[in-house]
Amino acid sequence: MNETASSVLTIDLGAIAANYRLLAERARPAVAAAAIKADAYGLGVAPVSRTLWTEGCRDFFVATLDEAIELRGLLPESRITVLNGLIAGEPALFREYALMPALNDLGQVDEWRTDCRENGPAPAVLHLDSGMARLGLPPVELDKLAQDHSRLEGFELALIMSHLACADDPDETMSRRQRENFAAALTRLPPAPASLAASSGIFLGSDYLFDMVRPGVSLHGVNPRPGQPNPLRPVVGLQAKILQIRDVDTPQTVGYGATHRFAGPARLATLAAGYADGYLRSLSGRGTAHIGETAVPVLGRVSMDLITVDVTRVPEARPGDMVDLIGPCHDVDALAEEAGTIGYEILTSLGRRYRRHYLGSGDGEIV
Ligand SMILES: *Cc1c(COP(=O)(O)O)cnc(C)c1O
Repeated sequence: MNETASSVLTIDLGAIAANYRLLAERARPAVAAAAIKADAYGLGVAPVSRTLWTEGCRDFFVATLDEAIELRGLLPESRITVLNGLIAGEPALFREYALMPALNDLGQVDEWRTDCRENGPAPAVLHLDSGMARLGLPPVELDKLAQDHSRLEGFELALIMSHLACADDPDETMSRRQRENFAAALTRLPPAPASLAASSGIFLGSDYLFDMVRPGVSLHGVNPRPGQPNPLRPVVGLQAKILQIRDVDTPQTVGYGATHRFAGPARLATLAAGYADGYLRSLSGRGTAHIGETAVPVLGRVSMDLITVDVTRVPEARPGDMVDLIGPCHDVDALAEEAGTIGYEILTSLGRRYRRHYLGSGDGEIV
C-alpha cells in the first residue's frame, strides 16, 4: 500500500483509545472530556473524534466555531464547547449547531442571556481567568458577576472552567494558587459543574480534578509530565523514504549554507521530508532519525522537502528504505526536545503531504 509514498504518518487510533481509558480512569469520579482543537492536534478530527466517542467520551472542546461546526457533523449527539467564545460568531449560529460558547467576558455573558430571553434557554460554559491572563473573566468581572447572579439567569450554566498556566511545572506554586483562586470563585457563583485540569493537571492530584477534565495532548501520546516516565501509549509514527545515498570520500559540505563539513569518509542518505512537512528547520544539525535501533543524525540544514542523515553506521541502507523520524526509538517528545519546542508544536505542524495510515480502532484498519 505504501510503495508509492515518500513519507508515511502512522496514527494509532487504538493507542488513542487506550490513552483515553487511562486518563478517564485516573480522573474518576470526574468526567473525562477531550480537547481536539486544531484538527485533533493535527492528527485528523474525524478518526480521532469517532475513536473517542466509541470509548464513551461525550464532551469535546475546540478552539473555533468552524472546528465546532465540523465536529457537529461528525458527532451529532456530542456536547461541544467553543473555547474562543461567543465572539467567534452570532448566538444564532451556536443555537443552530447546538454548540456551547465559553463565555470569556461579561459582555458575552450578557449577550448570551439576552439571546436566551428572546429565544429560550440554551446551555453555555463560563470561563474564569484564575491567573493565566489569556481567556476568561478577569477577577474584576468575576466580582461583578458574584454580586449580581441575575446576569446568569435564563440560561443553563453547563460548566464553570478555568485553565492552568504551569501544570507541567514541577514547581506547583502557580498551579496551587490558580486552584485556590478557582475554588474560591466557585463558592461565589451559582452551583455548576467545574473543570480546571487539562492533560498535565490530571497528574497534579485529586484536588485538581473537580467534575470534568479536558485532556488534549496526552490523548495523542505526548508526555503530560516532562522528565518523568510517560504513562501514555505513543500514537504517532513518522517514516521518510531514502531517495539517494552517497559516499563522501573527499572533503566537502552538505546542504544549504554548507553548514556541515565532513571530517572524514561517511555515507549520507537524503530523505523525503522537510520543513514543509513539519520536520522543523530548527532540527538542522540536531535531529536524530533511526534505522531500526541505530541512530542516524541529521547533518546540515533541513530544507523544504529534504533532509540529509548520516548512515555511515548502516552500510545496508538502500534507496527506497524507510527511516523512522518518529518511532519506537524516538518519540514526539524526544524530537520536540531536539527542536527546542514542545510535542504540541511537533504534532500540529505535521504536514498534509504524508500518506496517512490509521491503525485499528476496533473495526480494523482505516486508511
Ligand atoms: C488546549 C486546551 C486544553 C487541552 O490541553 P492539553 O494540555 O493539550 O491537555 C484544555 N483546556 C483548554 C482551555 C485548552 O485551551
